[in-house]
Amino acid sequence: MEHYDVVIVGSGHGGAQAAIALRQNGHEDTILMVSRDRNLPYERPPLSKEYLSGEKPFERIQIRPEKFWSERQVGLRLGCNVNEVDWMAHELALSDDSRVTYRKLIWAAGGDARRLSCSGADLGGIHTVRSRRDVDALKMELLAGSKRAVIIGGGYIGLEAAAVLRKLGCDVTVVEMEDRVLARVAGPALSEFYATYHRAQGVDLRLSTAVERIEGDGDKVTAVLTDSGETIACDIVIVGIGIVPSVGPLIAAGAAGSNGVDVDQYTRTSLDDIYAIGDCAAHANPYADNKVIRLESVQNATDMATTAAKAIMGDKQAYDAVPWFWSNQYDLRLQTVGISIGHDQTVLRGDPAEAKFSVVYLRENRVVALDCVNNTKDYVQGRKLVMERAELDPDLLADPGVPLKEMR
Ligand SMILES: Cc1cc2nc3c(=O)[nH]c(=O)nc-3n(C[C@H](O)[C@H](O)[C@H](O)COP(=O)(O)OP(=O)(O)OC[C@H]3O[C@@H](n4cnc5c(N)ncnc54)[C@H](O)[C@@H]3O)c2cc1C
Repeated sequence: MEHYDVVIVGSGHGGAQAAIALRQNGHEDTILMVSRDRNLPYERPPLSKEYLSGEKPFERIQIRPEKFWSERQVGLRLGCNVNEVDWMAHELALSDDSRVTYRKLIWAAGGDARRLSCSGADLGGIHTVRSRRDVDALKMELLAGSKRAVIIGGGYIGLEAAAVLRKLGCDVTVVEMEDRVLARVAGPALSEFYATYHRAQGVDLRLSTAVERIEGDGDKVTAVLTDSGETIACDIVIVGIGIVPSVGPLIAAGAAGSNGVDVDQYTRTSLDDIYAIGDCAAHANPYADNKVIRLESVQNATDMATTAAKAIMGDKQAYDAVPWFWSNQYDLRLQTVGISIGHDQTVLRGDPAEAKFSVVYLRENRVVALDCVNNTKDYVQGRKLVMERAELDPDLLADPGVPLKEMR
């Protein structure tokens, strides 16, 4: 049976960075990265942005070129699923019928796109946006002439896809169950701004609307039926309703966790010698008042990967990286820092009508997060305020003429 010092499950942002950080921190023993995905490690954010629009080819979204992995002797077993974990034997069962043993395991398996459960959910023409394969399939249909799209879910991925599809000349309807877009991640001011902007770009946005079923002709989608009794004709459906953490084999092995797998501040799971990082890892986040959360961001995956790699190398440092995220839609660049959950006040800086403004989130007068639209200066300066949990006067914060760096 093959043995590796470290086995990494998943080749996304977390898995790739874990291998990079191990080598950077002096790890010289064997590393194997096993991934269900058949491609070399690649960035996921462009999948709903420049890769979908065709502005960036696959080569430009690879995290590192092939020779990087071979030069550093990081073994890649791609197109291979980890089916079972035997934590006592430190052994994995893989989908190619092989078994490998490890000294340390890093679980960086992310999540699978959540699928619809209504009638018609399996029809052709229904897409998710999680992997290169998903997006290649979507692009093929667009190239073949599909032009009427219904996007289910008004979160970041749904809205980014809507922006690209409008640019490509499609008719786009976005159906969102909540009464505002981005409800899970942002305050009402930002939601309102994005809803207005999308509508101005020609997106037909239906809020407080749920999907009842999907209809097809043969095996191809023809319409989405909503709970308000409407039939929206379409030839393509994109489902952007979140992810299901990919932790089945770990939980089956006995790891603690419910929404993802639980990890401590060093990214250790409850099973000996098994770490978990990225989208699938539920952790107490210091920027969320130590609430146990999962973060779905490149920042979180890469910083957790570094924490895990350092812990494996004997340099234990608790995970306390400041959360940040970005989203590109049309000519809008949103940058967020901190975590807004639990805020009790928001302050608007600037004028949304000019498409350049920030929303500052406060808890007990302390800055906990910022959403900055086309406002990198606020993002950069606000980051320090979030890190310091700065206590500031809301009236002063509301004045865009006063730079944030001058407020401390
Ligand atoms: C379309 C899209 C746009 C995004 N845009 C942004 C953005 O603008 N900004 C931002 O910060 N974040 C963005 N994100 C989120 C970000 O990409 C994720 O948070 C990040 O990829 C998480 O990294 P990860 O390593 O935890 O998981 P992933 O990148 O999902 O990698 C998980 C890997 O594990 C593999 N795998 C799963 N189960 C198994 C198994 N049992 N055996 C073997 N392999 C397995 C998968 O195939 C995959 O390769 C976006 C995500 C998507 C999908």
